[in-house]
Amino acid sequence: MGSSSSSLNARIIQYRAALDAMRHGQFDATVAPDADDALGLLGEDINALATALHRRFSELTSLQAIAERVEAGLFLDDVLERVYESCRSVIPYDRIGCALLSQDRSSVTARWAKTAASAPGLRVGFTQPIAGSSLERILNSGQPRILNDLEDYLAQHPASISTRLVLAEGVRSSLTCPLIAQGTPVGFLFFSSRSRNTYRDVHLGLFLRIAGQLSVVVEKSLLYEELFRVNEELLAARRALEEQATHDALTGLLNRRALLERLGAELSRVQRGTSNVGLLLCDIDHFKRVNDTHGHGAGDVVLREVARVLAQSCRPTDVVARYGGEEFVVVVPATSASELDAIAERVRRAVESLRVSSGESPVTVTISLGGALALAGSAPRADPLIALADAAMYQAKRDGRNRYVRRQQ
Ligand code: GH3
Ligand code: MG
Ligand code: MG
Repeated sequence: MGSSSSSLNARIIQYRAALDAMRHGQFDATVAPDADDALGLLGEDINALATALHRRFSELTSLQAIAERVEAGLFLDDVLERVYESCRSVIPYDRIGCALLSQDRSSVTARWAKTAASAPGLRVGFTQPIAGSSLERILNSGQPRILNDLEDYLAQHPASISTRLVLAEGVRSSLTCPLIAQGTPVGFLFFSSRSRNTYRDVHLGLFLRIAGQLSVVVEKSLLYEELFRVNEELLAARRALEEQATHDALTGLLNRRALLERLGAELSRVQRGTSNVGLLLCDIDHFKRVNDTHGHGAGDVVLREVARVLAQSCRPTDVVARYGGEEFVVVVPATSASELDAIAERVRRAVESLRVSSGESPVTVTISLGGALALAGSAPRADPLIALADAAMYQAKRDGRNRYVRRQQ
């Protein structure tokens, strides 16, 4: 009796130690039920409890980790990527997909998918109407759905294109859940596996919790994306406005206002620095005739082509602008008189050899150029410098056009 009561005591002590360990979050301290009596059965119950608690505990830990990772995502794609990376410990899958409902909830579009399969079957952008689809039933019930044999499902629903597509990817089982954000359905989350009979009811609870978390994040990320999109639009509009304010619409060159600003900046460097700045004023010869002979539209094309040739004949640091109707200005920083002359001559010849196709025969034009140089260390101002180049240009016109004249400062 003494020995049996002491062994009874020892078993109870062992059981209590295991229960105490569990209370402190340790679930691997199992007991050894060494007899078939009532106490032995209790020992087995304690072991079963430890196993169940252990599973539950790791599920919760995983869910918490998933929640933290998922909620840290800003964009939906990023969020789904995180779901794909982190849910494997609690749910089996070879593919995760997300589809979003249209605003009026009449159709659903595949928004994101990640799969272990090399060739995706159901591609992002695939859209199907909700009415009459199996997703409509899921939407109405708000409950997840398990399909554990998709080949069989397709046999019964031969019209289901989406089933056909995922089958082609090798998917055999799927778990589908509606995404409901603040009571409103926003889309669906699909977990799928390449093996038949993958999903059990035990997965449903976990899946619902992941989908529940995701729903909130989906809404948040969609709002963020909308904000991001609107912001991008605003930035693009601002860039367009800046472009309009500083560039000529016909030729894409800087306009007169932007030119004067850049010229001002270059001239203030001349005053402080050791290098000259050259200015070329180019005017198309007899341009009125081009318009009169070939029409205003052809005239515009000629202006664009001359602008292109000017920009191409200059260095990237040179400033090329449309100064007025058929007048262009080139500001040439860090140059000498002979360098400026060489550039002017290069530009003149490039325009001269330009052939602009229009109607039967190509249009050719020439330009007259006036040059002026602002010398390093001087205090040049834009207006007199431009007037000097303008006077030189008129001299070139008087001398017979298609030529270059430079005036000394
Ligand atoms: P010159 O050799 O003395 O410079 O003669 P020109 O005919 O080029 O000079 P004029 O100043 O008499 O004429 C310039 C012409 O340029 C008149 C105007 O209709 C034309 N023009 C100005 N802006 C544009 C434009 O944006 N498009 C077109 N197609 N023509 C323009
Ligand atoms: Mg003119
Ligand atoms: Mg002209």
